[in-house]
Amino acid sequence: MSERIRYYSTNRNLDQVGGITPFRETVSFREALLMGQAPDEGLFMPETIPALPIGALKALKGAPYTEAAMLVAEAFLAEEIGTGALQRIIADAYNYPVPLENVFARKYIMRLDQGPTASFKDFAARMMARLMSAFRDHGNRLNVLVATSGDTGSAVGEAFKGVEGIDVTILYPRGEVSGRQKKQLDTIGGNVRAVSVDGKFDDCQDLVKQAFSDPAFVDFNLTSANSINFGRILPQIIYYVWAWAQLSREGETAVFSVPSGNFGNALGCEYARRMGLPVEKLIMPTNENDEFPRFLETGIYEKISPSRACLSNAMNVGHPSNLARFFDLYGGTVDRTGVVHRIPDLDEMKRRIYSVSISDRETKKTIKRVYEQHKVLLEPHGAVGWRGLEVYLELFGDAPLCISLETAHPAKFPDEIRELLEINPDLPQSMKDIDDRAGEPVFLPADYGKLKTYLQQHLRVKD
Ligand SMILES: *Cc1c(COP(=O)(O)O)cnc(C)c1O
Repeated sequence: MSERIRYYSTNRNLDQVGGITPFRETVSFREALLMGQAPDEGLFMPETIPALPIGALKALKGAPYTEAAMLVAEAFLAEEIGTGALQRIIADAYNYPVPLENVFARKYIMRLDQGPTASFKDFAARMMARLMSAFRDHGNRLNVLVATSGDTGSAVGEAFKGVEGIDVTILYPRGEVSGRQKKQLDTIGGNVRAVSVDGKFDDCQDLVKQAFSDPAFVDFNLTSANSINFGRILPQIIYYVWAWAQLSREGETAVFSVPSGNFGNALGCEYARRMGLPVEKLIMPTNENDEFPRFLETGIYEKISPSRACLSNAMNVGHPSNLARFFDLYGGTVDRTGVVHRIPDLDEMKRRIYSVSISDRETKKTIKRVYEQHKVLLEPHGAVGWRGLEVYLELFGDAPLCISLETAHPAKFPDEIRELLEINPDLPQSMKDIDDRAGEPVFLPADYGKLKTYLQQHLRVKD
């Protein structure tokens, strides 16, 4: 039996963080999963990263996705949850395909857009939801409360749909979500409720924060299911392992290009490499929010605030939340406000990681060119990833196996695709199904008293 992995906070080495005492203890996976964030507002990190033998990685060639998922998940969780329970969670979470589309030579697009919300966020959210259900305090319900401005909310909402013992309340700003996003959120149904708030995204976040600090809800097991939960990072290791096993020849190394915003997706690749996956380079292209490529170039980190609005809108991030984890893995510390307390090993970082900022203009040109040359359809996020790979290959020379990630379905960007390519992208079945769904949100003003009354009337404490 191996040791149980403990989890520490990325803020543990700070003296004081704005009056908050650094959290110097460690917690179990269960605690990290249910707490989401460390008490000092740091991010939880595994103290040890389990190793996967190269033989086990190679043996995944031709294996279904769920087998790769099992290999990775067991490496972290074998001491925490039984094999049978984990197998059921994985089979239930990953019931859709993961296409690897050849572009030319040995350059591939991995499409992570076949889940219920046509976003790569489905991979993480679906597994995290089921892990939370398995690890919750049985007998008591878990109440997930999230504020969202768009696609994260629908991925989380769909992921928790029908999951035992958990109810979800999603707050979204009425005027700031698209018609399609609204419809998707409003019609999930069952244990997932949408609340349409007459206010801005910041109002929704404030309301959620107030509920979390309200003693009236201590018995309700409120949890945030947010993107910095380690339970959302772990599942994002799996597709790198699986894709490499399918495509690599005789164990050769691969270059991955990951369009990046909050860096959770790229972090999955970084962990995969540290577990033993032969990753030659991790490319992390950003849109015009270029704080990270600038940092790699200059060693000076300056967050961008407010963030720049780009076509690849899920990557409009001026200070990536998971940067704290990247810094930590390379011996540095940065806090949530963007202050660097200790600079990471920049040389080592540059050996492993390449980053480049891709403008909206280049993003559009890439969508057009890749479609015309290769008949491969990309949307803006995937185009940033692909262009990042091209720039890397131009600078450093060819690499045999390259895999660039497509993180959303092109049908989510019909106007851009139509303008650039004069075609209408086919809707995936999941998006077609939404048109036939019915459901109404609850309407609330941006007023905590009203939200409190609503929650007290609707949330359940016991199973
Ligand atoms: C969230 C998101 C990203 C960015 O992923 P991070 O893990 O935040 O770097 C990229 N593309 C799409 C479509 C997304 O929804």
